[in-house]
Amino acid sequence: MTRRTSRQLRIGKVTVGGGAPIVVQSMTKTDTRNITATIDQIKELKDSGCEIVRVAVPDREAAESLATIKKSISLPIIADIHFDYRLALGALKAGVDGLRLNPGNIGDKEQIAGVVAAAKEREVPIRVGVNAGSLPADFQPRAPLAERMVNMALEQIKLMQDLNFDLIKVSLKAFDVPTTIQAYQMIADKMPYPLHLGVTEAGLPRTGSIRSAIGIGVPLYQGIGDTIRVSLTAHPCEEVFVAYEILRSLGLRQRGPTLVSCPSCGRAEVDIIALAEAVNKRLEKISKPIKVAVMGCVVNGPGEAKDADVGIAGGKGKGAIFRKGEVVGTVSEDRFLEALMAEIDSLNK
Ligand code: SF4
Repeated sequence: MTRRTSRQLRIGKVTVGGGAPIVVQSMTKTDTRNITATIDQIKELKDSGCEIVRVAVPDREAAESLATIKKSISLPIIADIHFDYRLALGALKAGVDGLRLNPGNIGDKEQIAGVVAAAKEREVPIRVGVNAGSLPADFQPRAPLAERMVNMALEQIKLMQDLNFDLIKVSLKAFDVPTTIQAYQMIADKMPYPLHLGVTEAGLPRTGSIRSAIGIGVPLYQGIGDTIRVSLTAHPCEEVFVAYEILRSLGLRQRGPTLVSCPSCGRAEVDIIALAEAVNKRLEKISKPIKVAVMGCVVNGPGEAKDADVGIAGGKGKGAIFRKGEVVGTVSEDRFLEALMAEIDSLNK
């Protein structure tokens, strides 16, 4: 896959764009004014693999809280600003590593110029974060939605460029997946800045993960995108998990083990679903990129199990255990989990 060449920038210590690994972001769901809860959630996010965290800044107190939060965390922090440019100035003063401005609700040129000047002085990047839901109704009302989103972003990019500011990142998020994909495809060769991918308000984990996998996965497969955020109605660590699964599915990032498991069918003579779930639970504690195969029978079992670092191919009440392509033993069904985990643990040392 050839990736779009984007300009590189840094959010704190994290490099985004210009061929750097795709960065995984999430957003806290705590009240930012509750400093302790926000710090705790950012620490949880870091442990789950999040690389940049964004926090909502709804008022002055939230903006002021950022200085204390920043001192207690190691992840780069981005302030999410809507409506009031003064909150962006407050967040910059508090030492944030990045800003997200919504051009749909902060459009005044002088206000943007003030924020850009303060960001430039501190070398803090700004994301032009367009959301389909907050486009002004009178902005190019006859144009298709994806085009309106792109044009809104380009307008604000031009404004920033005219102010000699180029630490820019761009996102174009809609709930509608085809609109999101079209918008990213349209803007990709119209400007050089890194793209932050996401499907907004994607929903509860089951449906939201699928919407995000398509809306983020299609542009990524086309080489478009430098950082991603999955938006789910769930704990933010779920978003990080799904983001890594999308990247892993496309071979773009690898974090932790990969479980290959067959769906089971009428040929299976062992309970493969229960075994796969039990193995998956155990693998959550492992960070090494090990490939594990849990297969129900001889149809595809030996092939997949051989191809994995550790695998099992089930038979009638028993199964063959594979390690690095070789059969290392045959065990009865009641010993599947124990035998498989023993092999996994030996590789995880
Ligand atoms: Fe069915 Fe065997 Fe394929 Fe699993 S590996 S889905 S049990 S045929």
